[in-house]
Amino acid sequence: MPTYSRYDVAFVKGGGSWLIDDNGKKYLDFLSGLGVTILGHAHPEIANAIYDQAKELVHTSNLFHTKPQQALAAQLSGLSLGGSVFFSNSGAEANECAIKLARKYGNEKLGGAYEILSAERSFHGRTLAALAATGQPEKKEGFQPMPEGFRYFPFNDYKALENQVTDKTCAVLIEAVQGEGGVYVADQHFLDQLTQLCSGKKILLMIDEVQTGMGRTGKFFAYEHFGISPDVITVAKGLANGLPIGATITTPELADVLGPGKHASTFGGGPVPCSAALKVIELLSENNLVNKNNETGDLLKNKLSGLAEQTGLIKEIRGLGLMLACELTEPISADITKKCLEKGLIINHVKDNAIRFLPPFVITPEEIDIAIDILKSSILESFK
Ligand SMILES: *Cc1c(COP(=O)(O)O)cnc(C)c1O
Repeated sequence: MPTYSRYDVAFVKGGGSWLIDDNGKKYLDFLSGLGVTILGHAHPEIANAIYDQAKELVHTSNLFHTKPQQALAAQLSGLSLGGSVFFSNSGAEANECAIKLARKYGNEKLGGAYEILSAERSFHGRTLAALAATGQPEKKEGFQPMPEGFRYFPFNDYKALENQVTDKTCAVLIEAVQGEGGVYVADQHFLDQLTQLCSGKKILLMIDEVQTGMGRTGKFFAYEHFGISPDVITVAKGLANGLPIGATITTPELADVLGPGKHASTFGGGPVPCSAALKVIELLSENNLVNKNNETGDLLKNKLSGLAEQTGLIKEIRGLGLMLACELTEPISADITKKCLEKGLIINHVKDNAIRFLPPFVITPEEIDIAIDILKSSILESFK
């Protein structure tokens, strides 16, 4: 279905931070799919992990245990909230699970509370409940009626959030850094107040780490930057470096909220994506990549600041770690993105006036220089 307006480029091969199209042209990938191939394309060790597992066992259904799924659940739980994990196949599904968990929790523990609060400009996925939670009315156009029980507040506006809380509120679902909304970082004070509100009223704090998780922002999960303790987090994009997988992770207190028969996924947590994800986690830690993303992100940020000074056409640089965006003085980001692509650089126009960078964690300083050169000439040409 024509649900994407695609560029006229077809890729056939990749390696590290580079892609090659069907004409043999090379592109530097500063987008990683959409924040997915965090360790670069066609990583040989991940390819081997996939192949080795595929030779042994690909699918059993979730009526049985498999070693890769158990090992990955233990790793993810250990790296975050310490409770249980539900595996699905995407970010939207990971959020669907979180939404169902919150409803079940409200049903059992909060006298039937079912409302979930989320932020304006947020993005939580395109399935109906995830879309209902998404704070972007234009994406819901034509799909009404939306599932009930969702209320919205302006991101980082605590007073407005408080005004949306009722005795029916069971959870708040929020990104610590809004991704699709344009790369906006949450305020520390806002998150502190939100945490206090949630723990006081026993409302679940659910952080959507689908884009920010797996080290993207310079911590394994973005919530760690803020010293807060969510009740539920969702992960997907970078988790298996490109194989489809989603995970919903709870605290020990919430580990059994979704009991037998209450949620399911035929493919979720299959041995192959779980083996890939285990290899991703191993490689991240072996190479200290999560920490390194702070340095690499600072380097990219500095170069973008330089570009802002040289051109006068960049208003603001936002983000954390290797999740960055530039806001331009004019709404010409689509044109800049197209020019960059022609010159062999993949970026993303996340808003009319903002371009987003989600490079793989293996990006080198030399590759950052190449990207900045292409970006500079593209920005200058687009402003002519
Ligand atoms: C991409 C994204 C999703 C949706 O993930 P899909 O795998 O496309 O369903 C949800 N939340 C956030 C924060 C995302 O960036």
